[in-house]
Amino acid sequence: MAKYDYECVIIGAGVVGSSAAYQLAGHGHKVLLLDQFALPHSRGSSHGSVRILRYPYTDLRHHQAMPEQYEMWHELEKEAGTQLTHKISMLRVTPTKNEVYRLTFSLIRQSQLACLELSEAQVKEKYPFLDITGRAAFLQEECLTIDAHKAVQCLQSQFVKNGGVIRDNEKVLKIEPGPVVTVHTNKGGCYRAKGIILAPGTWASGLLKSLGLNLPIKAWRVNVCYFKEKVPESHRKIPCVMYHTDEGFEKVLIVFPSREYPGLVKINYHLRWDEVDPECRDLEASKTQLDIEEIKMFVKERMPALELEPVLVEPCLYTCMPEEDLLVDTHPLYKNIAIACAMSGKGFKMAPLIGKVLGEMALGKPPSFDTSLLSFKRFLSTTSRPKL
Ligand SMILES: Cc1cc2nc3c(=O)[nH]c(=O)nc-3n(C[C@H](O)[C@H](O)[C@H](O)COP(=O)(O)OP(=O)(O)OC[C@H]3O[C@@H](n4cnc5c(N)ncnc54)[C@H](O)[C@@H]3O)c2cc1C
Repeated sequence: MAKYDYECVIIGAGVVGSSAAYQLAGHGHKVLLLDQFALPHSRGSSHGSVRILRYPYTDLRHHQAMPEQYEMWHELEKEAGTQLTHKISMLRVTPTKNEVYRLTFSLIRQSQLACLELSEAQVKEKYPFLDITGRAAFLQEECLTIDAHKAVQCLQSQFVKNGGVIRDNEKVLKIEPGPVVTVHTNKGGCYRAKGIILAPGTWASGLLKSLGLNLPIKAWRVNVCYFKEKVPESHRKIPCVMYHTDEGFEKVLIVFPSREYPGLVKINYHLRWDEVDPECRDLEASKTQLDIEEIKMFVKERMPALELEPVLVEPCLYTCMPEEDLLVDTHPLYKNIAIACAMSGKGFKMAPLIGKVLGEMALGKPPSFDTSLLSFKRFLSTTSRPKL
């Protein structure tokens, strides 16, 4: 076999690529991690303050993987000697005791996790910041928040500590598949690797197309809004709230206490919203942003102890497939090219496990977690069949 410079080259230093890099270097592999922007940056999906790690997922595949996700985040904290996660409870509010309510409640119970139904009056007494009049609610323990920005930096610094190499501000322009894969960059870099990992987040379409894969990947701009509390300290101990609107299963508002901006409460929609071209996401901010208007309406009606206008709006990108699930697989033709994309708003918590599996795939090892349901196969029977 021809010689290579690295056992693995990873394209994309968001949470997924950085997790894969950390895992591989931890096992003694020679790895290069590339990113098109100077790190750290806030133009993809992995920046910002906080992400939630929670049970349950109504999708059982994700639900069953949760204990391992918790464990892997704790292992990273232990190894790095730094705290990245914090315990938090979650209040789930639904329009009625509907299907979402019943399904999630029973999954939590089956997993033997603490979970408590609350009446309107009990919510009012326990959480006076939130008005849930006319709605159903239950409280679950055992959730964690992850400090997103800190976690990505921690993964990268552990990677470097274990001998990994990061080159940022270097964009991959071309990939030549083969038993040794060659990666060309805009800085004249030409890196040869035994296997590569593509973790390019929202920018996946172009790179995948150049490898013969046309997938229906879409990027969505999510506006993360921060609201100031009217009375200082009044929202310091709030739980994370998942507020299901009246408009279906997926249209959910998420409220977080904010650690990095004391006195502000973070609220954003968890769903695809405004489709964007990732290259133009900031230019498109001038369009009417319906999600911000709806969030303001929610604050007015349900969280009146907050100021009405957000004092800060941070854009973030979601990358989704039509059925809103992840893609984690090797290229259908080139088995030493592992791909993760369309993390669909749930990729942060799963990054350590996905990163581990990607490393195994790229180096031709059997994956230690079954990802068959996240594979390309699901597209082969549909109109979005990859064009090889
Ligand atoms: C507001 C918001 C809230 C969220 N909440 C949660 C949550 O609570 N829980 C959860 O689990 N998930 C959550 N998510 C989703 C999660 O954050 C994402 O799924 C995850 O960060 C995706 O990471 P990534 O590494 O795939 O992509 P990214 O972070 O976008 O990283 C991709 C990287 O690839 C680089 N790149 C792309 N193309 C090239 C190229 N050609 N050459 C070199 N580099 C390249 C980019 O510069 C970028 O740095 C949330 C997302 C948002 C936006």
